[in-house]
Amino acid sequence: MALLPVRLYPDPVLRARAAPVERFDDELRRLVRDMIETLHAAPGVGLAAPQVGVGQRVAIVDLSVGERPEELHILVNPVLVSSAGSLVEEEGCLSIPGISEKVERPAAVSVVASDLEGNAFELRGADLLARALCHEIDHLDGILFPDRLRGLRRERVRRALRRLAREAEQGAVIA
Ligand code: ZN
Repeated sequence: MALLPVRLYPDPVLRARAAPVERFDDELRRLVRDMIETLHAAPGVGLAAPQVGVGQRVAIVDLSVGERPEELHILVNPVLVSSAGSLVEEEGCLSIPGISEKVERPAAVSVVASDLEGNAFELRGADLLARALCHEIDHLDGILFPDRLRGLRRERVRRALRRLAREAEQGAVIA
């Protein structure tokens, strides 16, 4: 097991569309093990492979942050198949440290994904789980939570992002 460095905005890997996983092998299992360790150490409730520099459609969500094994969801090639309602709640991202904002997301979603053996399963989530699933699937398409904002919230976060990018350029932030 190994802790992986979390890539920070504006790392271009965060903006690339991740490729579907085709091989359900030891390499994939090792990636997921390392992602789980990295997520729990952060600590956070979700992590997508591009956030550790791997352009593959793999994400994990664990609202219990390692407390309850049944709440750890490993999603390979996840697809959002339906959503309902909407909720506006505070949201942040391990790749955008120090910035959070209220984001509108579906109140409930259904996701189809594969497990580590390549078997398809369906996961339904509401409230925070729905939010985390949408956030992580967005990462696989190069979408970050500020992209989901409108109006004043979007402007506020854009200013903070420009500051983060400047700091990264000046080497003030070491990922
Ligand atoms: Zn994120």
